[in-house]
Amino acid sequence: MGGLTGVPVGGLVAGRSALVTGAGQGIGLEIARLLHEHGARVTLADVDAERAAKAAAEIAGGDADSVLGPGRDVIGLGCDVTDETSVENAVRHTAERFGGLDILVNNAGITRDASLRRMSAADFDAVIGVHLKGSWLGVRAASAVMREARRGSIVNISSLSGKSGNPGQTNYSAAKAGIVGLTKAAAKELAHRGVRVNAVQPGLIRTAMTEAMPPEVFAAREADIPMKRAGQPREVAGAVLFLASDLSGYMTGAVLEVGGGRLM
Ligand code: NAD
Repeated sequence: MGGLTGVPVGGLVAGRSALVTGAGQGIGLEIARLLHEHGARVTLADVDAERAAKAAAEIAGGDADSVLGPGRDVIGLGCDVTDETSVENAVRHTAERFGGLDILVNNAGITRDASLRRMSAADFDAVIGVHLKGSWLGVRAASAVMREARRGSIVNISSLSGKSGNPGQTNYSAAKAGIVGLTKAAAKELAHRGVRVNAVQPGLIRTAMTEAMPPEVFAAREADIPMKRAGQPREVAGAVLFLASDLSGYMTGAVLEVGGGRLM
Protein backbone atom coordinates (compact mmCIF):
# COMPACT_ATOMS: atom_id res chain seq x y z
CA MET A 1 0.00 0.00 0.00
CA GLY A 2 1.05 3.52 -0.67
CA GLY A 3 1.60 6.73 1.17
CA LEU A 4 -0.54 9.13 3.13
CA THR A 5 -3.48 9.07 0.74
CA GLY A 6 -3.96 5.31 1.06
CA VAL A 7 -3.80 4.96 -2.72
CA PRO A 8 -1.65 1.94 -3.58
CA VAL A 9 1.59 2.78 -5.36
CA GLY A 10 0.95 2.44 -9.09
CA GLY A 11 -2.78 3.05 -8.91
CA LEU A 12 -6.03 1.91 -7.32
CA VAL A 13 -5.93 -1.49 -9.02
CA ALA A 14 -2.17 -1.92 -9.36
CA GLY A 15 -1.18 -5.46 -10.34
CA ARG A 16 -4.79 -6.61 -10.73
CA SER A 17 -6.02 -8.50 -13.75
CA ALA A 18 -9.17 -7.28 -15.49
CA LEU A 19 -11.52 -8.32 -18.28
CA VAL A 20 -13.88 -5.76 -19.83
CA THR A 21 -16.52 -6.86 -22.37
CA GLY A 22 -17.68 -4.62 -25.20
CA ALA A 23 -14.44 -2.68 -24.74
CA GLY A 24 -13.81 -1.92 -28.41
CA GLN A 25 -15.34 1.55 -28.08
CA GLY A 26 -17.45 3.85 -25.94
CA ILE A 27 -17.87 3.28 -22.22
CA GLY A 28 -16.09 -0.10 -22.22
CA LEU A 29 -12.99 1.37 -23.84
CA GLU A 30 -12.84 4.16 -21.24
CA ILE A 31 -13.30 1.64 -18.41
CA ALA A 32 -10.41 -0.43 -19.77
CA ARG A 33 -8.27 2.67 -20.20
CA LEU A 34 -8.89 3.91 -16.65
CA LEU A 35 -8.26 0.48 -15.09
CA HIS A 36 -5.01 0.31 -17.07
CA GLU A 37 -4.01 3.81 -15.99
CA HIS A 38 -4.54 2.63 -12.42
CA GLY A 39 -2.15 -0.26 -12.85
CA ALA A 40 -4.32 -3.17 -14.00
CA ARG A 41 -3.48 -5.63 -16.74
CA VAL A 42 -6.51 -5.59 -19.00
CA THR A 43 -8.21 -7.74 -21.62
CA LEU A 44 -10.46 -5.77 -23.96
CA ALA A 45 -13.04 -8.21 -25.32
CA ASP A 46 -15.47 -7.32 -28.08
CA VAL A 47 -17.59 -9.17 -30.63
CA ASP A 48 -15.72 -7.06 -33.19
CA ALA A 49 -12.25 -8.57 -32.79
CA GLU A 50 -10.57 -5.98 -34.99
CA ARG A 51 -12.06 -3.15 -32.95
CA ALA A 52 -10.88 -4.84 -29.74
CA ALA A 53 -7.35 -5.18 -31.13
CA LYS A 54 -7.24 -1.53 -32.21
CA ALA A 55 -8.57 -0.34 -28.85
CA ALA A 56 -6.01 -2.46 -27.00
CA ALA A 57 -3.22 -1.07 -29.17
CA GLU A 58 -4.43 2.47 -28.46
CA ILE A 59 -4.31 1.90 -24.71
CA ALA A 60 -0.93 0.22 -24.87
CA GLY A 61 0.45 3.09 -26.96
CA GLY A 62 0.41 1.15 -30.22
CA ASP A 63 2.17 -1.83 -28.76
CA ALA A 64 -0.49 -4.40 -27.85
CA ASP A 65 -0.61 -7.87 -29.31
CA SER A 66 -3.96 -8.58 -30.89
CA VAL A 67 -4.74 -11.95 -29.45
CA LEU A 68 -2.15 -13.99 -27.63
CA GLY A 69 1.64 -13.57 -27.55
CA PRO A 70 3.52 -13.27 -24.29
CA GLY A 71 4.55 -10.61 -21.89
CA ARG A 72 2.32 -7.61 -22.46
CA ASP A 73 -0.30 -6.16 -20.19
CA VAL A 74 -3.10 -5.29 -22.61
CA ILE A 75 -4.89 -7.86 -24.75
CA GLY A 76 -7.51 -7.32 -27.44
CA LEU A 77 -9.72 -10.35 -27.86
CA GLY A 78 -12.69 -11.32 -30.01
CA CYS A 79 -15.52 -12.47 -27.72
CA ASP A 80 -19.26 -12.76 -28.23
CA VAL A 81 -20.86 -12.51 -24.79
CA THR A 82 -23.93 -14.43 -25.94
CA ASP A 83 -21.78 -17.48 -26.58
CA GLU A 84 -20.95 -19.64 -23.57
CA THR A 85 -17.69 -21.01 -24.97
CA SER A 86 -16.53 -17.60 -26.15
CA VAL A 87 -17.04 -16.08 -22.68
CA GLU A 88 -15.32 -19.00 -20.95
CA ASN A 89 -12.39 -18.67 -23.36
CA ALA A 90 -12.04 -14.94 -22.62
CA VAL A 91 -11.97 -15.62 -18.89
CA ARG A 92 -9.50 -18.48 -19.32
CA HIS A 93 -7.15 -16.51 -21.62
CA THR A 94 -7.11 -13.59 -19.20
CA ALA A 95 -6.51 -15.78 -16.16
CA GLU A 96 -3.74 -17.71 -17.91
CA ARG A 97 -1.97 -14.67 -19.35
CA PHE A 98 -2.21 -12.51 -16.24
CA GLY A 99 -2.04 -15.23 -13.61
CA GLY A 100 -5.62 -14.84 -12.35
CA LEU A 101 -8.71 -12.73 -12.76
CA ASP A 102 -9.51 -10.02 -10.20
CA ILE A 103 -11.96 -7.78 -12.06
CA LEU A 104 -14.73 -8.47 -14.57
CA VAL A 105 -16.78 -5.67 -16.11
CA ASN A 106 -19.88 -6.85 -18.00
CA ASN A 107 -20.35 -3.89 -20.31
CA ALA A 108 -21.15 -5.23 -23.81
CA GLY A 109 -24.44 -3.88 -25.11
CA ILE A 110 -26.74 -3.27 -28.04
CA THR A 111 -30.08 -1.55 -28.59
CA ARG A 112 -32.97 -2.62 -30.82
CA ASP A 113 -35.46 0.14 -29.99
CA ALA A 114 -39.07 -0.01 -31.19
CA SER A 115 -42.55 0.47 -29.80
CA LEU A 116 -44.31 -2.64 -28.54
CA ARG A 117 -46.44 -2.60 -31.67
CA ARG A 118 -43.37 -2.83 -33.87
CA MET A 119 -40.82 -4.74 -31.80
CA SER A 120 -40.18 -8.27 -33.04
CA ALA A 121 -39.50 -11.21 -30.77
CA ALA A 122 -36.07 -11.37 -32.41
CA ASP A 123 -35.35 -7.78 -31.24
CA PHE A 124 -36.38 -8.79 -27.74
CA ASP A 125 -34.23 -11.93 -27.73
CA ALA A 126 -31.20 -10.12 -29.16
CA VAL A 127 -31.17 -7.46 -26.45
CA ILE A 128 -31.88 -9.88 -23.60
CA GLY A 129 -29.20 -12.17 -25.03
CA VAL A 130 -26.38 -9.63 -25.07
CA HIS A 131 -27.17 -7.77 -21.83
CA LEU A 132 -28.76 -10.28 -19.50
CA LYS A 133 -27.57 -13.68 -20.66
CA GLY A 134 -24.18 -12.16 -21.57
CA SER A 135 -23.76 -10.73 -18.07
CA TRP A 136 -24.90 -13.99 -16.49
CA LEU A 137 -22.40 -15.99 -18.55
CA GLY A 138 -19.67 -13.54 -17.50
CA VAL A 139 -20.60 -13.70 -13.82
CA ARG A 140 -20.68 -17.49 -13.90
CA ALA A 141 -17.35 -17.92 -15.71
CA ALA A 142 -15.46 -15.26 -13.75
CA SER A 143 -16.81 -16.28 -10.35
CA ALA A 144 -15.58 -19.84 -10.92
CA VAL A 145 -12.03 -18.45 -11.03
CA MET A 146 -12.52 -15.77 -8.37
CA ARG A 147 -14.13 -17.99 -5.73
CA GLU A 148 -11.09 -20.28 -5.80
CA ALA A 149 -8.80 -17.27 -5.33
CA ARG A 150 -11.20 -15.97 -2.65
CA ARG A 151 -11.14 -12.49 -4.10
CA GLY A 152 -12.59 -10.59 -7.00
CA SER A 153 -14.85 -7.75 -8.04
CA ILE A 154 -17.51 -7.99 -10.72
CA VAL A 155 -19.16 -4.84 -12.05
CA ASN A 156 -22.26 -5.13 -14.22
CA ILE A 157 -23.30 -2.21 -16.40
CA SER A 158 -27.05 -1.71 -16.03
CA SER A 159 -28.79 1.55 -16.99
CA LEU A 160 -31.20 4.09 -15.53
CA SER A 161 -33.59 2.70 -18.18
CA GLY A 162 -33.74 -0.39 -15.99
CA LYS A 163 -34.86 1.76 -13.04
CA SER A 164 -37.41 3.98 -14.77
CA GLY A 165 -38.38 2.10 -17.94
CA ASN A 166 -38.06 3.88 -21.28
CA PRO A 167 -40.77 3.89 -23.93
CA GLY A 168 -39.47 2.18 -27.06
CA GLN A 169 -37.08 0.13 -24.95
CA THR A 170 -39.19 -2.63 -23.40
CA ASN A 171 -36.46 -5.11 -24.31
CA TYR A 172 -33.55 -2.96 -23.07
CA SER A 173 -35.28 -1.77 -19.88
CA ALA A 174 -36.22 -5.36 -19.01
CA ALA A 175 -32.65 -6.54 -19.61
CA LYS A 176 -31.14 -3.71 -17.55
CA ALA A 177 -33.56 -4.29 -14.65
CA GLY A 178 -32.74 -7.99 -14.88
CA ILE A 179 -29.06 -7.16 -14.46
CA VAL A 180 -29.88 -5.60 -11.08
CA GLY A 181 -31.52 -8.85 -9.93
CA LEU A 182 -28.61 -10.87 -11.26
CA THR A 183 -26.17 -8.57 -9.43
CA LYS A 184 -27.93 -8.93 -6.07
CA ALA A 185 -28.44 -12.70 -6.30
CA ALA A 186 -24.83 -13.29 -7.33
CA ALA A 187 -23.60 -10.89 -4.62
CA LYS A 188 -25.39 -12.99 -1.99
CA GLU A 189 -24.05 -16.26 -3.39
CA LEU A 190 -20.46 -15.09 -3.63
CA ALA A 191 -19.97 -12.76 -0.65
CA HIS A 192 -18.65 -15.47 1.68
CA ARG A 193 -16.05 -16.40 -0.95
CA GLY A 194 -14.60 -12.88 -1.03
CA VAL A 195 -16.15 -12.01 -4.39
CA ARG A 196 -18.10 -8.75 -4.64
CA VAL A 197 -20.72 -8.06 -7.32
CA ASN A 198 -22.04 -4.55 -7.92
CA ALA A 199 -23.77 -2.63 -10.70
CA VAL A 200 -23.58 0.81 -12.26
CA GLN A 201 -26.58 2.53 -13.83
CA PRO A 202 -25.42 5.21 -16.25
CA GLY A 203 -27.86 7.85 -17.43
CA LEU A 204 -27.44 9.61 -20.76
CA ILE A 205 -23.81 9.20 -21.85
CA ARG A 206 -22.27 10.48 -25.09
CA THR A 207 -21.30 7.43 -27.15
CA ALA A 208 -22.06 5.86 -30.53
CA MET A 209 -25.10 4.22 -28.90
CA THR A 210 -26.72 7.56 -28.01
CA GLU A 211 -25.45 9.45 -31.07
CA ALA A 212 -27.86 7.24 -33.01
CA MET A 213 -30.71 9.25 -31.37
CA PRO A 214 -32.29 12.14 -33.29
CA PRO A 215 -30.55 15.36 -32.06
CA GLU A 216 -33.83 16.87 -30.81
CA VAL A 217 -34.53 13.78 -28.67
CA PHE A 218 -30.99 13.91 -27.27
CA ALA A 219 -31.39 17.62 -26.46
CA ALA A 220 -34.75 17.02 -24.74
CA ARG A 221 -33.22 14.26 -22.61
CA GLU A 222 -30.31 16.54 -21.65
CA ALA A 223 -32.72 19.30 -20.62
CA ASP A 224 -34.36 16.89 -18.14
CA ILE A 225 -31.09 16.20 -16.31
CA PRO A 226 -30.47 18.33 -13.19
CA MET A 227 -26.83 18.80 -14.24
CA LYS A 228 -28.10 19.88 -17.71
CA ARG A 229 -25.66 17.80 -19.70
CA ALA A 230 -24.99 14.25 -20.87
CA GLY A 231 -22.20 12.39 -19.12
CA GLN A 232 -18.86 11.34 -20.58
CA PRO A 233 -17.76 7.68 -20.79
CA ARG A 234 -14.91 8.47 -18.40
CA GLU A 235 -17.40 9.58 -15.75
CA VAL A 236 -18.93 6.09 -15.84
CA ALA A 237 -15.46 4.56 -15.78
CA GLY A 238 -14.71 6.40 -12.53
CA ALA A 239 -17.57 4.66 -10.74
CA VAL A 240 -16.47 1.31 -12.15
CA LEU A 241 -12.89 1.87 -10.99
CA PHE A 242 -14.17 2.63 -7.49
CA LEU A 243 -16.23 -0.59 -7.41
CA ALA A 244 -13.34 -2.60 -8.87
CA SER A 245 -10.88 -1.30 -6.28
CA ASP A 246 -10.45 -1.93 -2.56
CA LEU A 247 -11.92 1.52 -1.85
CA SER A 248 -15.31 -0.20 -2.09
CA GLY A 249 -14.17 -3.26 -0.13
CA TYR A 250 -17.31 -3.42 2.05
CA MET A 251 -19.78 -2.93 -0.80
CA THR A 252 -21.59 -5.75 -2.57
CA GLY A 253 -24.98 -5.95 -4.28
CA ALA A 254 -24.98 -2.16 -4.62
CA VAL A 255 -26.25 -0.16 -7.58
CA LEU A 256 -24.51 3.15 -8.26
CA GLU A 257 -26.33 5.71 -10.40
CA VAL A 258 -24.18 7.85 -12.69
CA GLY A 259 -26.80 10.11 -14.21
CA GLY A 260 -26.13 13.75 -13.36
CA GLY A 261 -28.95 13.65 -10.82
CA ARG A 262 -31.55 12.17 -13.16
CA LEU A 263 -34.17 9.89 -11.49
CA MET A 264 -32.77 10.20 -7.99
P1 NAD B 1 -21.36 1.26 -27.75
O1 NAD B 1 -22.36 0.82 -28.77
O2 NAD B 1 -20.55 2.48 -28.05
O3 NAD B 1 -20.36 0.05 -27.43
C1 NAD B 1 -20.82 -1.23 -27.17
C2 NAD B 1 -19.75 -2.24 -27.51
O4 NAD B 1 -20.26 -3.55 -27.22
C3 NAD B 1 -19.37 -2.23 -29.00
O5 NAD B 1 -17.96 -2.16 -29.16
C4 NAD B 1 -19.93 -3.55 -29.52
O6 NAD B 1 -19.17 -4.13 -30.59
C5 NAD B 1 -19.88 -4.42 -28.26
N1 NAD B 1 -20.79 -5.56 -28.34
C6 NAD B 1 -22.05 -5.60 -28.86
N2 NAD B 1 -22.52 -6.85 -28.81
C7 NAD B 1 -21.56 -7.63 -28.26
C8 NAD B 1 -21.46 -9.02 -27.97
N3 NAD B 1 -22.45 -9.88 -28.27
N4 NAD B 1 -20.31 -9.48 -27.40
C9 NAD B 1 -19.29 -8.63 -27.12
N5 NAD B 1 -19.32 -7.32 -27.40
C10 NAD B 1 -20.45 -6.81 -27.96
O7 NAD B 1 -22.19 1.42 -26.40
P2 NAD B 1 -21.88 2.24 -25.06
O8 NAD B 1 -22.75 3.44 -25.07
O9 NAD B 1 -20.42 2.37 -24.83
O10 NAD B 1 -22.54 1.24 -23.98
C11 NAD B 1 -21.77 0.40 -23.14
C12 NAD B 1 -22.67 -0.15 -22.05
O11 NAD B 1 -23.22 0.93 -21.29
C13 NAD B 1 -23.88 -0.93 -22.58
O12 NAD B 1 -24.16 -2.02 -21.73
C14 NAD B 1 -24.99 0.08 -22.53
O13 NAD B 1 -26.25 -0.53 -22.46
C15 NAD B 1 -24.63 0.81 -21.25
N6 NAD B 1 -25.25 2.12 -21.13
C16 NAD B 1 -24.99 3.10 -22.04
C17 NAD B 1 -25.60 4.34 -21.88
C18 NAD B 1 -25.37 5.47 -22.84
O14 NAD B 1 -26.04 6.51 -22.69
N7 NAD B 1 -24.45 5.36 -23.80
C19 NAD B 1 -26.47 4.57 -20.81
C20 NAD B 1 -26.70 3.53 -19.91
C21 NAD B 1 -26.08 2.32 -20.08
